[in-house]
Amino acid sequence: MTERKKYDLELLELHCRENNVVLLQDYGGQKITRNSVISFRCLNCESPTEKGFRYIIENGGWLCKVCTKLNRKEKVKKTDEDKKNPVDDVIVEQME
Ligand SMILES: [Zn+2]
Repeated sequence: MTERKKYDLELLELHCRENNVVLLQDYGGQKITRNSVISFRCLNCESPTEKGFRYIIENGGWLCKVCTKLNRKEKVKKTDEDKKNPVDDVIVEQME
């Protein structure tokens, strides 16, 4: 199911409500597009941050640059660990 997202004020407000995002600017009545730059407080460290609306939505990032980087590192680490453990799978295959 591919639902095309409409990047507008409604989506912005919805995301803010769902994630408890603190906006640093009042966007009410403004024309919001996917290219709009949104000012908000990082959900992790609360530092003021600016990001493109589309980037935030697509990358799930109500985070500042620093926290986004940390977040990404964690994810990479986890995938590496997953890859390191194919041994069990190999044994199962041989027994069959
Ligand atoms: Zn942060």
